[in-house]
Amino acid sequence: MAEIWLPGWDRHLFNLRGKPYQYTRNPKGCLHTTEGGSIAGALAAYAPYPPHGIYDWRDRKKLQHIPLNLASYSAMDGNDDDYLVQIELVGFAAESRFWPDEAWRNIAEDVIKPLEDNFGIPRRALGFKDGRDGISPPLATEDSPIRLSWDELRDYSGWLGHQHLPAPDEHWDPGAVQIGKIFAYVGEPLEEDDMPMIIKKNDGSSPDCYVLTSTADGCWKRKISTQELDLLRACGAKVTEVNPWNVDNVPSNPAQSPTGKAVHNYGVPTVPGPNPPEYKPAHQVLATINQNTRPET
Ligand SMILES: [Zn+2]
Repeated sequence: MAEIWLPGWDRHLFNLRGKPYQYTRNPKGCLHTTEGGSIAGALAAYAPYPPHGIYDWRDRKKLQHIPLNLASYSAMDGNDDDYLVQIELVGFAAESRFWPDEAWRNIAEDVIKPLEDNFGIPRRALGFKDGRDGISPPLATEDSPIRLSWDELRDYSGWLGHQHLPAPDEHWDPGAVQIGKIFAYVGEPLEEDDMPMIIKKNDGSSPDCYVLTSTADGCWKRKISTQELDLLRACGAKVTEVNPWNVDNVPSNPAQSPTGKAVHNYGVPTVPGPNPPEYKPAHQVLATINQNTRPET
C-alpha cells in the first residue's frame, strides 16, 4: 500500500516505521498530550513508542513519524493497532482546557481537517474530560467510566483521547480538549445526512432538547445535556422547535420499538438482532453501533 504522509507535515523518522492495523474500518483519531513543553523534549521521550505525529499549536510545527497506512505505538496498551491515528499535542493534560482560541483554530486547520481528508475520520467526538469534571472513579484509573470497552473502541469512528482507551490503560491525556470549538473552526458543516435531529418544544414551556432517533417503528427521543447540545451545534446541528404534543408523544425508551430495530443517532445503520439494543449515553458509543458492518476476526 502506498504510504500516506500528511501534506505540509515534515517527516521525522524513528527506527520504528509502523505496523499493520488489525482492521481498516471505523477510522479514529486519538489525541495525546506530551506532558512537556516542546517537540524536542517529546521526541527524546517517546522514541521507543512514537505516535504518527506531533503538533505544537504555538508555532504550528508539525512532524510525522509513521505513515497513516500503518499503525503507530503511543498507546502501548494493545490498542495501538486499532484503526486509529495517534497525534501528540505539545502541552499538559491539566492545562489543555485553558488553551486559547488560537490553539483550537490551529489544531482544527493543521490536525483535524487534514486527518478528516486523509484518513476519513468523521467529525464526531467523545467528550474530553479533566479533573474539573468530577469523573468518578477518576480519569487516571483503569476504572474511569469514560473508557470504552474493546468492542466499543472497535465499533467507534471519530475523535477520542488516550483517556478513552480501554482498561487496563489508565492514562487520562489529553485532558479537556475543547473539541466543540475545534469542530467549529474546521468550518464546513457536516453532510445533512450525518446530522442528528434535535427537537425542543416551541411553546417555551421547557428548555430541554432531545435527539430524535428513527427506528423501524417510528421514533424515540433522548434528552441531551447542554454540553452535548453545544457540541452538536458546533458540528452544525440545528435545533428544530416543534409542537409540544409531538415532543411529549415520542417515546423515550427504544425498547418500545416492537421489532426491536432501533437506529442510534449519529447516522449509524440499523442494528439487527432480536433484542432492542440497551440504551447507553452517547459518550459511551454503543457496542452495537455498526455491528452489522463489523469486520471478520
Ligand atoms: Zn497518551
